[in-house]
Amino acid sequence: MTKFLSSEPLHDPRAAPVPAASTEVKCTTCYMCACRCGIRVHLRDGGNGPEVRYIEGNPEHPLNQGVICAKGSAGIMKQYSPARLTQPLRRKPGSERGAGEFEPISWEEVFTLLSDRLARLRATDPKQFALFTGRDQMQALTGLFARQFGTPNYAAHGGFCSVNMAAGMIYSIGGSFWEFGGPDLERARLFVMIGTAEDHHSNPLKMALGKFKRGGGRFIAINPIRTGYAAIADEWIPIKPGTDGALLLALIHELIEQDLVDHEFVARFTNGSQLVNLDESSDDFGMMLRNPDGDILNPKRPHNFWWWDRASNRPVADHAEGSEPALTGRYTMPDGTLAYTRDGSFQKDAQGVMVTSSGFPVQPQVTIPPDTVSLTIGRDGVVSALQAGQAAPTQIGQLQLATFVNTGGLQSVGENLYVETASSGTPTPNTPGTNGAGLLNQGFVETSNVNVVEELVSMIETQRAYEVNSKMIQATDEMMKNAAQTL
Ligand code: SF4
Repeated sequence: MTKFLSSEPLHDPRAAPVPAASTEVKCTTCYMCACRCGIRVHLRDGGNGPEVRYIEGNPEHPLNQGVICAKGSAGIMKQYSPARLTQPLRRKPGSERGAGEFEPISWEEVFTLLSDRLARLRATDPKQFALFTGRDQMQALTGLFARQFGTPNYAAHGGFCSVNMAAGMIYSIGGSFWEFGGPDLERARLFVMIGTAEDHHSNPLKMALGKFKRGGGRFIAINPIRTGYAAIADEWIPIKPGTDGALLLALIHELIEQDLVDHEFVARFTNGSQLVNLDESSDDFGMMLRNPDGDILNPKRPHNFWWWDRASNRPVADHAEGSEPALTGRYTMPDGTLAYTRDGSFQKDAQGVMVTSSGFPVQPQVTIPPDTVSLTIGRDGVVSALQAGQAAPTQIGQLQLATFVNTGGLQSVGENLYVETASSGTPTPNTPGTNGAGLLNQGFVETSNVNVVEELVSMIETQRAYEVNSKMIQATDEMMKNAAQTL
């Protein structure tokens, strides 16, 4: 008989001890919130099986060290609540869905019912099975079960609130934490708590906050209501519900405007320096820019995101060694156009790729191994590297010389680069020394095609001619003057 609506107490802690009752203490963890504080559950067996008498914090548990909150000690009410489900219920045959009419059935019956239904769905269309679970901390297992069953339709409590927060923090600062553990209050001087639902007032954080404030730390709570943690905040910011995003964007704006950002931290530990695709015509507009088809230069960062290196003023793989990523600004990526150069002063970039003096990669690409001790470019364009510990150099690339029917028709695009035009004709790539393409000389830059002696002689002749002409004009002038006086 249920005492659900009765005023009679469910438990009377003042009741006289049952004669010959035995008592026992079980150590476990509290499940009334996600902190999982250590608790000691006191049981008494008065002849009708063990019964929970009360719950206290476990002083030997490292997390809460004996502290227990009202929710935790009230766990006994959940255990003995008359509303608690203790057996499976089935909607009564013939009753309307939502009418709330159920009848208890046995576990045997429910397992048969479920296995029949699930087997039918799995044999026909597994996607019709949708599995949604509560806050059970078993999402790895329930997700595995759903995947094995063959349905993508599974989710849990976390997918609607906390996991979004966790995903945001993992993407931005590389990890997430809840108030149950994680904030480094030992070293912090300012602690800003944004939000936090009322059921999350955990003992571990209460203890940590108390210690933090006693040590002189400043605590700011941003929450529409001032309860729980916010009650002990030095400053309470009661924002309107739903305006959290605007507040955070305003804070970020000020941090950037006043340059109060730890550049090194942002570059190294966040995605703040990754380039974002701002091409509105692209399917990936607004997404992080990637080089999905490029070689994976860093196995720890296989997504091949881009940084803009301030030192060389060009894009580099994110976290490329020696690069200095720009944190703000708009940049234009190379569009893949092939250009031709007469600038033979090639260099090595941070990834070991041979590039022009402006940082454009040489094609076909040549990658210089990191342990190269000497590099040789043959007259035929063969690039060879002698690596540490090797007796002979190995070929790592081949430079080509392009010829055009009309080189005068090439269009200059700056930085000693030329692109083909209809007038220049299409390029013919040649191995140096073949098809009249000339040979390469390592260590030499292109010499001038000006004949200095010829040019000097020509200059002297021009100067003499000028002097003669000038004297003739002067003589003519004198003659005209004399003639005018005589007449
Ligand atoms: S904070 Fe309270 S409710 Fe949460 S686990 Fe600890 S004792 Fe239980």
